[in-house]
Amino acid sequence: MNTPPYPADVCVLGAGLVGPMIGMMLARQGLSVNLFERRADPREGSPAGNRSINLALSCRGWNALAAVGLDGTIRQAAIPMYGRAIHAAGGRRSFQPYGREGESIFSVSRSLLNRLLLDQAEAEPNLRLYFDRQCTAVDLEALRLDFHNARTGLPEQAGSRLVIGADGIASALRHAFEQTCPAFTCRRSNLELAYKELTIPAAGGQWQLEPNALHIWPRGAFMMIALPNADGSFTCTLFMNREGENAFAGLRTDDRAEAFFDRHFPDALPLMPDLAGEFRSNPETSLTSVRCAPWTYGGKAVLLGDAAHAMVPFYGQGMNAGFEDCHLLGRLLAEDAADWGRALGRFEQIRRPDANAIAELSYRNFLEMSQKTADAAFLLRKQIEAHLCRQYPGWWTSAYSLVSFSNAPYAEALALSETNDKFLDQIAGLENIESRWPHLDYPSLLRKHRESLSAAAGPPAALAQ
Ligand SMILES: Cc1cc2nc3c(=O)[nH]c(=O)nc-3n(C[C@H](O)[C@H](O)[C@H](O)COP(=O)(O)OP(=O)(O)OC[C@H]3O[C@@H](n4cnc5c(N)ncnc54)[C@H](O)[C@@H]3O)c2cc1C
Repeated sequence: MNTPPYPADVCVLGAGLVGPMIGMMLARQGLSVNLFERRADPREGSPAGNRSINLALSCRGWNALAAVGLDGTIRQAAIPMYGRAIHAAGGRRSFQPYGREGESIFSVSRSLLNRLLLDQAEAEPNLRLYFDRQCTAVDLEALRLDFHNARTGLPEQAGSRLVIGADGIASALRHAFEQTCPAFTCRRSNLELAYKELTIPAAGGQWQLEPNALHIWPRGAFMMIALPNADGSFTCTLFMNREGENAFAGLRTDDRAEAFFDRHFPDALPLMPDLAGEFRSNPETSLTSVRCAPWTYGGKAVLLGDAAHAMVPFYGQGMNAGFEDCHLLGRLLAEDAADWGRALGRFEQIRRPDANAIAELSYRNFLEMSQKTADAAFLLRKQIEAHLCRQYPGWWTSAYSLVSFSNAPYAEALALSETNDKFLDQIAGLENIESRWPHLDYPSLLRKHRESLSAAAGPPAALAQ
């Protein structure tokens, strides 16, 4: 057992999802890494008491998992979701594929992912894990970190050549940047919207809804989604304002919560036998986003994942983006091993436009999922887009595909989303489009669209054949 002051090349704060990933990547480069987590080791508690929370994992996340050799194990427990299953207010159900045939994102258990990452990290000879250590202060100049050890109740210290803040939304390292760098700016925003997790349990070991889809009940100012779990259950997340009409504040009694579900989610209510109990006991959690700059302090410290760029969860990319951060940072530190200041500078320069772009896309996707997925004009656009994806794969790529099924920079996906929207606006404005759309000459329409774009500024790379 190590004793304080824990010297190492690299100190990583936070053993959530991003911390163990970057820790492993750097340990494999031969660096000694200490990973500090404020909570107890989640592998020591009983999993039975934990609620099952799941995340959508896509291409960028898989790449990082493959880099540390965990993709095979995770794939065995992951459930493919090939598209959105929309439960419209009138009871109509429709299915919108996410990509081309066979393309899917995956539902994975967050706690399983966390445990597997920790097991794998612990097996690294150059990496040490310390739980129950809350970082309370970071001296960025001296590279000295203060901790509270929750097991002993005593203060401890650690030092290193580099500090990585993978300590999430309330990052202690970001707080040190705020205290130390006069030029540091940080905008932490809470949406009006909060979320509550609920469950559709398995019935006889089986899923009660189609398991290979992400289910959405869009209702304008609020919505519910459900992702499948491997045990036959679904984790549902209800997103809704805290106060006002159709808000959590109005649903404080069992009767009101059930009546609300009966009115707005009548097909889900019979599948949720403990709705009232869960509604009472599960918390309402705020949705927070973080935009801050800079992420780096010379060659000494860097923020990663949610600590640097927490975003609203509506593109299912927070963790995927955090894993992609790790991939890039690991590569740049290896390339510039003699000059970490330059490596961190390059990291921030390359990554910031992409982090801003995925945060923007996530917010736009919230508007799309909550307000438009049940709208007839929007559904028609989606139908046309699916047709373009299927029939003209060389001509058309959706922004969702670029984000979820490719490694193209997020900024490219944002630019593509804007270009595609312009094209679909143009098509949607054609007379009698409802009946004409399957018969249009899309290659020639797309060619004209591209010509008009290149006359202006030139199309984004992803649009070019
Ligand atoms: C409702 C919801 C749904 C989501 N769905 C998806 C999805 O489908 N797909 C997706 O990719 N992303 C999703 N996300 C986002 C994803 O959860 C986050 O982006 C991801 O967890 C970020 O990982 P992280 O390691 O940066 O932070 P975290 O997972 O928050 O980990 C930070 C760790 O640091 C520890 N810590 C904090 N402070 C200290 C300290 N002072 N000292 C030591 N340790 C500390 C914490 O205990 C924690 O373990 C969702 C988020 C929400 C809220």
